[in-house]
Amino acid sequence: MKCTASSKETGNPCKANARPNGFCHFHDPDAAEALRETKRKGGQEKQRRYPQDAKVLPAMALTVALANGGPKAVLSVCEQIIKAIIEGELDYRTGGSVASLLNVCVSAMKMKETDSRLSELERKTRPLEGLTQEQLLQLVREGQRNGVAAAANTNGH
Ligand SMILES: [Zn+2]
Repeated sequence: MKCTASSKETGNPCKANARPNGFCHFHDPDAAEALRETKRKGGQEKQRRYPQDAKVLPAMALTVALANGGPKAVLSVCEQIIKAIIEGELDYRTGGSVASLLNVCVSAMKMKETDSRLSELERKTRPLEGLTQEQLLQLVREGQRNGVAAAANTNGH
């Protein structure tokens, strides 16, 4: 006996051998229900496996906030993620997502750092604007003399 269902795509009758209930393995409504049940249980299983996700993550976010988001905080959070994954408290996929976001944070920190250093440099060099080459060279010579004097003082004590 052939399966009594027809192909969804072509509309032609299914050519597979039927089970006692008149359907093949793929068209059997009972089998489909069993498959849904298996998937549903699998989903529950996954949720049960990482019950701490929701507890672990806010603690990490808090750490970043308290430390004002410096590189030290990022390192600390990474350590927490690794520990939580190893101890089975955090799904490695969740940990991976957080790690990716931390990467974005680090990039932003670097940009901020570069920006403030550039601003500082601009502020320091502003008084030099408009000086002649000779005046600039004079300043450099004075700077070198002062530098040598400072080094000599340091060595003397
Ligand atoms: Zn079939």
